Amino acid sequence: MIEVRDLSRSYGALKAVDAVSFDIGRREIVGLLGHNGAGKTTIMKMLTGFLEPSGGSIRIDGQDIAARRREVQRRIGYLPENCPLYPDVTVLEHLDYQGALHGIAPRQRPAAIRRAVERTGLGPKATATVATLSRGYRQRLGVASALLHEPDVLILDEPTNGLDPSQIQHMRALIREQAGHATVIVSTHILQEVEAICGRVLIMRAGQLALDSAIGAIGATPRLRVTLDRQPGEVREALGALPGISAVDHIGEEGVRRDFALTTEDPDAAAPRVAVAVAERGWALYALARERHDLEAVFGQIAEGGAAGAAASTQEVATHG
Ligand code: ATP
Repeated sequence: MIEVRDLSRSYGALKAVDAVSFDIGRREIVGLLGHNGAGKTTIMKMLTGFLEPSGGSIRIDGQDIAARRREVQRRIGYLPENCPLYPDVTVLEHLDYQGALHGIAPRQRPAAIRRAVERTGLGPKATATVATLSRGYRQRLGVASALLHEPDVLILDEPTNGLDPSQIQHMRALIREQAGHATVIVSTHILQEVEAICGRVLIMRAGQLALDSAIGAIGATPRLRVTLDRQPGEVREALGALPGISAVDHIGEEGVRRDFALTTEDPDAAAPRVAVAVAERGWALYALARERHDLEAVFGQIAEGGAAGAAASTQEVATHG
């Protein structure tokens, strides 16, 4: 759905975005992460056609944004950072104006506005003046404006910034729902947000793409964690003999539950074998999962870490992405 190739943007000598390439498929929810100034907003502005790249290309559903900016923009909904709203009009008037800007015909506008109001839960504030809205409702109005014309691509710059916990939950549910019919890119500083809603993450560092990875593959190590009710010697003997498992380490215990780490080249292939071996022996199986480091550790390593770490990670990702 979105193809970005060697995308760059310079401000004088500063390379805000430096030769970034990625592909995003239909109905993916992708999180764009990075420290302040890493280049997230600059990428989003170029994807929405509001900022000219210094180099590279962007294609949305096969159409080059440089050649067909207007057509492509019609298919994109954008919630900018600190979304600008008109303070003196009501919510419905604001949406009507946005609908006109999006080119929705006057006859179709009421239905489009009704849908957007329902989706974003703006109903109770429909006739309120924008200036009187809380931060949460202002964000909802920004999102309602972005999805009014039923875009195929939704680009949200820090959509939960400044929201309280219940507003955050509502916004995340709304974003997940959008992925039923649109491709969504969300920029955020909140790692849990990416884990909660995104299937994939792009991490920017100083203008460059340092990691492109499926969330499920993040921080995965070639080890399986298994929790059983058996003695280490017994487990080592039984599971260490399975094909593809090169080591069995006893790594902890709590009551009758003992945790083991199984080293294997291919955790996905080894897991069913472990499950069968455990079941055949009639042992209690409390847990079986790929071992992983959390996104926070991976982000710290990549966003702040040395170039070598980032390069290794990027290569790793090519197989998962
Ligand atoms: P944040 O998380 O703070 O929003 P970001 O990752 O979105 O940061 P960008 O806003 O894309 O980062 O900025 C990338 C770099 O480009 C920064 O160093 C920023 O100072 C610089 N930059 C952005 N816009 C301009 C501009 N109009 N003129 C000069 N430099 C700019």
